[in-house]
Amino acid sequence: MSVEAKAKYHGKVLQVAVPSPLRRVFDYLPLPQQQASPEPQAGIRVKVSFGRQQLIGIVVAVANSSILEKKKLKPILASLDTEPLLNAAVFKLLLWAANYYQHPLGEVFAAALPAKLRNGNPLRESSKVWTASEPSTSQTSLLGRAVKQKALLSFIRSAGEVTESKLRQAGFSKMLLVQLLQKNLIEEHSRTEVAASFEALEPESSFDLELNEEQLVAVTTISKALQGYKCFLLNGITGSGKTEVYMRIMQEQLSKGLQCLVLVPEIGLTPQTIARFKQRFSCLVVSLHSGLNETERMTAWLQARDGSAGIVIGTRSAIFTPLANPGLIVIDEEHDASFKQQDGFRYSARDLAVSRARQEGISIVLGSATPSLESLHNAQCNKFVHLHLSQRTGSDQPSAMEVIDVSNEAMTGGFSEQLLYRIRKHLQQRNQVLVFINRRGFAPILNCQTCGWICECENCNTQFTVHANPPSIRCHHCGATARLPQSCPSCKSNDLNTLGIGTQRIETFLQKQFNHTPVIRIDRDSTRRKYSLEKMLEEINKGDPCILLGTQMLAKGHHFPNITLVAILDADSGLFSADFRGQEHMGQIIVQVAGRAGRADRPGEVLIQSRHATHETLQTLANKTYAEFSKSQLKERMSAQLPPFSHLCLLRAEASERLLALQFLDELAQFCQRFSAHNSLPIEQLGPLPAPMEKRAGKYRVQLLLKTNKRGNLQALLSSLCAELEGMKLPRSVRFSIDVDPQDLV
Ligand code: ADP
Ligand code: ZN
Ligand code: ZN
Repeated sequence: MSVEAKAKYHGKVLQVAVPSPLRRVFDYLPLPQQQASPEPQAGIRVKVSFGRQQLIGIVVAVANSSILEKKKLKPILASLDTEPLLNAAVFKLLLWAANYYQHPLGEVFAAALPAKLRNGNPLRESSKVWTASEPSTSQTSLLGRAVKQKALLSFIRSAGEVTESKLRQAGFSKMLLVQLLQKNLIEEHSRTEVAASFEALEPESSFDLELNEEQLVAVTTISKALQGYKCFLLNGITGSGKTEVYMRIMQEQLSKGLQCLVLVPEIGLTPQTIARFKQRFSCLVVSLHSGLNETERMTAWLQARDGSAGIVIGTRSAIFTPLANPGLIVIDEEHDASFKQQDGFRYSARDLAVSRARQEGISIVLGSATPSLESLHNAQCNKFVHLHLSQRTGSDQPSAMEVIDVSNEAMTGGFSEQLLYRIRKHLQQRNQVLVFINRRGFAPILNCQTCGWICECENCNTQFTVHANPPSIRCHHCGATARLPQSCPSCKSNDLNTLGIGTQRIETFLQKQFNHTPVIRIDRDSTRRKYSLEKMLEEINKGDPCILLGTQMLAKGHHFPNITLVAILDADSGLFSADFRGQEHMGQIIVQVAGRAGRADRPGEVLIQSRHATHETLQTLANKTYAEFSKSQLKERMSAQLPPFSHLCLLRAEASERLLALQFLDELAQFCQRFSAHNSLPIEQLGPLPAPMEKRAGKYRVQLLLKTNKRGNLQALLSSLCAELEGMKLPRSVRFSIDVDPQDLV
């Protein structure tokens, strides 16, 4: 039976998405006076009463009937817009994304809009202006001997129209204005400023850089396809001039008056990145990132929406920014994990960007030195056009990699003798050295030498990390912090020992080993203060010998021409990770960090310490190219039928009792089984099982992994699962989430 046939009410109905965890729209009646004009339309905000609350929702569609009876339908309280907030392409993208990621539509819209709009502020702040009424002597005579009022009136008459600031400049008080208004001698109007679109840039042919052959091929190939949708994977080693390629294509679109949207990883959106674009292009460049306040964000968003910004640069959520005249999307470092939102609305900005480009009929360029296996696979299947930049620009040489076998070595402070020797040599030659370890803090373990007790965070059942400054223990999973214990709580022994290495411990060790060389530590702890990173980078760029020590914050964005040695202290944790993406991520980090070093006259060296030096993955990475490495990774994924050769969805449940979470997912698992059997959908289920990290912040975590070869199967299952869930009474203490295309299985 169709919805029409079930309809109990016939007449105009607004289907509204409200910010609530419910995955459906709600029917409301339009305001009576609105039934004429302006017609209520999809995409505008409305205020509605929802239960006992008043919420701001978005009209998703206007229907001609409802399955509810008239008396159950409430009219909206107010309509907040006269035009849709988002253009059709972004609107459609959000509807699609809500469905694909199985996330409540109201929350999806909320994620896409600046907070000011979410909170009901007007789309455009209107400003007031005043004009004189039709002159009539009888009215003017009302003024009598009010000299100041007379002066203001003639001021307004001669100006035609005045704004508040003009009045203030001329020295008139607001009070006088009110008096004239009361006497109907002047009229008040509101004006909303609509910015004009930016002026098309002159096509500029004379950049001082001459493109190399590969860049030229990339630019020409992309240029030819700019009329419509096409996705390009620009696969170029660090320093091969990818940004230069983006900018040439952008220039071409900007000269036609078309806007460019550039997404960069969270760590990559530095003032330098923005400055580089501002320096090249004379159009308005706006940035959207977490550092903006709500007014700045709103302004940038509006400038993108009304077309006055030529270039919009932003992190993940900028993918939802509407553009009046879209011409190109660029995703820099497309492999970066920060493009996937890890909580709430768990979307992939990269994947949505590709959908959006198709929706808008424009081209998109995904750039990376270490493309994700997903994108490489798409290139192999000819969904993406693969472009290569294999040379560093200028005469810079790529670094040579070498694995140091430390399986039988006595290590000091995490370093083998050989590595220390090589570091010393590079420093003696007045070069800089980069030491990479992906673990911040002093040491990952504090234990008792007498009884073996290990200091653990009770909320997460994982070890506390010891921090040196100030001496403390911190949980890197829930953020819990405590004073460093002086004795073992279990046996009272004072013989406590730190095991393992973190950035702070290595810093101390290196300072002792190389006491004449500055050691600069860059990690989340050392860069918390504003501008501290900039200061450290400045110090490094002076070029004097130093040791730069840090975590993956170093793997992005910055180039260090004076670094000739990169030391990777521990590759083994990535080699044997619980996450099937562990090796891919290890490879990407090593290649990215390696790409920071070396230049023409001083080629770089990369040394990787491992207890498994003969491991094939490590050997491929060290002795062959990233392309070879990713090819062998893809082969392994294929034989294990893991993404990109299958599609995953992770259902997670969290509760303070393990059993509650398990029982809940068990119920869902049974539903999934029945559904797939009934519809003969080949969907594999793994679990419910405890998550690899079973307890976090006091909650037990259980997960159920769904795997299939066809996205459509999974989508069908998830849709009916969600419908089932809406009808189910969720145990209050269980938190549940759906993660489509999960990045992180831990
Ligand atoms: P990527 O984005 O691939 O890391 P960039 O585009 O930042 O590389 O280029 C690295 C450096 O090389 C920049 O300083 C850039 O100005 C310069 N560069 C880019 N293309 C050329 C070229 N064709 N000739 C000379 N220098 C170039
Ligand atoms: Zn003890
Ligand atoms: Zn914890």
